[in-house]
Amino acid sequence: MAFDTTYRMLIGGALEAGSATFDVINPATETVLAQAPDATPADLDRAVAAARAAFPGWAATPIAERKAALSALANAIWANADDFKRLLTLEQGKPHAEAGGEVMGAGYWLQANTALDLPETVNEDSDDRFSVTRHIPLGVVGAIAPWNFPLILAMFKVAPALLAGNTMVLKPSPFTPLTTLKFGELAKDILPPGVLNVISGGDALGPWMTSHPGFDKISFTGSTATGRRVMASAAPTLKRVTLELGGNDAAIVLPDVDVEKIAETLFWAAFTNNGQICIATKRMYIHKDIYEPLRDAIVAYARTVKVGDGSEQGTQIGPINNRPQYERVLGLIEDARDKGYTFLLGGEKADVPGYFVPITILDNPPEDSRIVQEEQFGPVLPLIKFEDLDDVIARTNATDYGLGGSVWSKDEEKAWDLAQKIQSGTVWVNETQHLSPLAAFGGVKQSGVGVEGGLEGLLEYTNAQTLVRRKKPAFAD
Ligand code: NAD
Repeated sequence: MAFDTTYRMLIGGALEAGSATFDVINPATETVLAQAPDATPADLDRAVAAARAAFPGWAATPIAERKAALSALANAIWANADDFKRLLTLEQGKPHAEAGGEVMGAGYWLQANTALDLPETVNEDSDDRFSVTRHIPLGVVGAIAPWNFPLILAMFKVAPALLAGNTMVLKPSPFTPLTTLKFGELAKDILPPGVLNVISGGDALGPWMTSHPGFDKISFTGSTATGRRVMASAAPTLKRVTLELGGNDAAIVLPDVDVEKIAETLFWAAFTNNGQICIATKRMYIHKDIYEPLRDAIVAYARTVKVGDGSEQGTQIGPINNRPQYERVLGLIEDARDKGYTFLLGGEKADVPGYFVPITILDNPPEDSRIVQEEQFGPVLPLIKFEDLDDVIARTNATDYGLGGSVWSKDEEKAWDLAQKIQSGTVWVNETQHLSPLAAFGGVKQSGVGVEGGLEGLLEYTNAQTLVRRKKPAFAD
């Protein structure tokens, strides 16, 4: 059975249409795809109150039962994978194959988290004293997700928060609320009322959440600019924050790679999901000895890639997700054109409906150009020539971002050494964008605060509490 086309919020275990709605646009056609509920401040208050009421019961639920609930949520996603996939393509733009990967991955993230446990550390167990540090849930978490991977990035938050015993109010991006709302519908029949609340709304809803005194933590994924606002807004009530923010990942390609074999892999390092990945390669430094042949091989491969509506068979790259981002990317292209940089491919606007930007590759623009310095988050890649390893590391690190990065070489040891000089939360050698639910992932510098994934990610949803017992105190004799 296909998903029905009504979209409702989940508040306190009940599905609600909301008192108003907003339009959700299909980015491949620029037509209205559906209406989503537009939450009011009163709706938010009720969602927070429901989460707070559910918190003591959920925190006291044995962790094995909380794990069983995560498994049931994973199974519910998998059982509806085809519907989720189609809906994700319609609201996000990504091709069906990639949408299917995100949906399966979202279920996997929930399931994989069930392998984690909350550790207890015995600090002292002497004749005098027993001291243990344990990890207790924080309370109510506000989760705010972006539009590039709406479903799986929401699960990055849902899985550890609920596993640790917290309750949650989850808000998708206004550009991609639909798959998250459908997930909420499924969760209604799996979780106790109020444990997970899903609300959608316009631009005001995020700030209402971050300033709401009823949240103990805000877990945010989005741009660095918004991350700063979230942190400021969380300060008055000292909410905990996890901020997963933007990046400007460099790929460093050493001269010993096999140019013909690696071109396709390097292309997708930058252009998967139309470049709309926080850990996409956003600037590619290629050693001068192979610069021309590798450049030509990447461009030759790029010419074979099919851009179009993600719902159509054979599409490999879809549209940009939304108009503001589309205009931002076009602005960067225009800047490069105005400055007279060389375009190897693209550079013009696609004259079709939908937020389509042709694959655009630039030939060695200056290091201080906007396209090298800024996060493009779209299908525009600067290829940059380098000669000296120290110099390329210095250029890689000369940024406020520090999310990911990669080194490519036949000499794994040399690449491994180089990888350790990159100042970012994750560095890959001879692959990129591999994330695991069991490994910490986060940004250094202004790419983030805290991590998601692994035990480190789980513990961000807890307070450390140390319990100390004096054994046989003298006054008790
Ligand atoms: P965004 O910052 O515009 O929005 C993210 C979310 O925050 C949305 O739900 C939005 O409605 C909400 N929001 C907007 N203003 C807010 C405010 N003042 N207070 C609270 N919430 C607010 O980001 P985006 O455009 O949706 O996503 C793209 C960005 O996200 C890119 O910079 C990308 O690198 C980054 N990103 C980072 C990661 C990561 O894990 N580090 C993953 C994916 C995307």
